[in-house]
Amino acid sequence: MSFKVPRGTQDILPEQTAKWQKVESVLRELSRVYRYKEIRTPIFEQTELFQRGVGDTTDIVQKEMYTFEDRGGRSLTLRPEGTASAVRSYVEHKMFGNPDQPVKLSYMGPMFRYERQQAGRYRQFVQFGVEAIGSADPAIDAEVISLAMDIYQTVGLKDLKLVINSLGDKETRDAHRTALIQHFEPSIGEFCSDCQNRLAKNPLRILDCKKDHDHPLMKTAPALTDYLTESSAKYFDQVKKYLEVLGIAYEVDPNLVRGLDYYNHTAFEIMSTADGFGAITTLCGGGRYNGLVEDIGGPDVPGIGFAMSIERLLLALEAEGIKLDVEDGLDLYVVAIGDEAKLKSAELISSFRAKGISADMDYVDRKMKAQMKSADRLGAKFVIVLGDTEMEEEAVNVKEMETGNQEKIPFHDLVNYLLENK
Ligand code: ATP
Ligand code: MG
Repeated sequence: MSFKVPRGTQDILPEQTAKWQKVESVLRELSRVYRYKEIRTPIFEQTELFQRGVGDTTDIVQKEMYTFEDRGGRSLTLRPEGTASAVRSYVEHKMFGNPDQPVKLSYMGPMFRYERQQAGRYRQFVQFGVEAIGSADPAIDAEVISLAMDIYQTVGLKDLKLVINSLGDKETRDAHRTALIQHFEPSIGEFCSDCQNRLAKNPLRILDCKKDHDHPLMKTAPALTDYLTESSAKYFDQVKKYLEVLGIAYEVDPNLVRGLDYYNHTAFEIMSTADGFGAITTLCGGGRYNGLVEDIGGPDVPGIGFAMSIERLLLALEAEGIKLDVEDGLDLYVVAIGDEAKLKSAELISSFRAKGISADMDYVDRKMKAQMKSADRLGAKFVIVLGDTEMEEEAVNVKEMETGNQEKIPFHDLVNYLLENK
């Protein structure tokens, strides 16, 4: 019997984790400066939360959820996204009563969707996302978008495109919905069965269909932007103005409708335009969801957020040939010859580590030459060799591997020497 990772999942091996941690540190640092405080919610929730919060007509709820019954007969679902959980927690903990509004939250962790596996599409993936709940100010829409852009720019991506749209308010959506039904109904037989269901339930979702997106009626479909009410149009103009002030370039795509049911007003996506990124180019998606908090049992409070996966961010880096500047180097390798020296080596290493100097030694009884090779492979900045002479003199040559320079340092000065030179 041999075992493999489940389809659509992956092991992140030690050689890759440094990259992940680097990205995570950028995400944490930018969350700090934009002031989106991290929230950690359970990996599974009541199934109904997602049916409500994500929407019954979405692909996620219809075919992508990992739903199971626990031993107590409750229906639970591995979270497919983070917004519903964040909003559930916001309502449960009555954050709408906080003196400081909007409440700005960030999250990072695994999400689960039963999807067809392909590059950039996994069944378990890590999303970072933010939510700003409690403000209907176009300035916060621009802040959320600029945080997402800032993340990609900070890791070094250049081939980026920001696409925005407005889905308008309820009046906009109702008028547009009627127009869509009129547009698609006569020929709905030519569309997939999902679209046929969508026609009555949520015709906007037809525009987001992955199967039928080349059907000629898609191009001529009534655009939401033509149905924007005056106040929606004004809101959208304000968002654009703020983006301009922040120096963020964007394109308006009237056909951009996001995958989740609850979006209104601002919707946006950030894509990679790098050659070789592959078929899936969306790095990040987000938008405004006024109404969601109320749907989940809270007061009528507006919100906006985005989500991005770290997997796609890393793919974009690869496509642009960007190597992250990761620090996983080894400061010092101690080569020890003989039992005495080995004891001393353990003692020294422990004093180095106590000062934050990364240090390692041999634990498999290798000869000196093999230990030296190890030090080299591990990329040690310094190497010291402890043998009888060094033990007698209580001093050791510290060799800098890159230059070959050596300096003799007494044992009791080693920590300081390394701290100054590492
Ligand atoms: P898509 O159209 O690619 O299916 P979506 O509308 O389902 O995207 P969202 O639910 O908005 O995507 O998720 C936001 C972001 O999460 C995406 O832009 C992408 O970066 C990432 N993401 C979504 N699904 C996956 C997945 N299966 N594997 C890796 N990353 C994903
Ligand atoms: Mg999807």
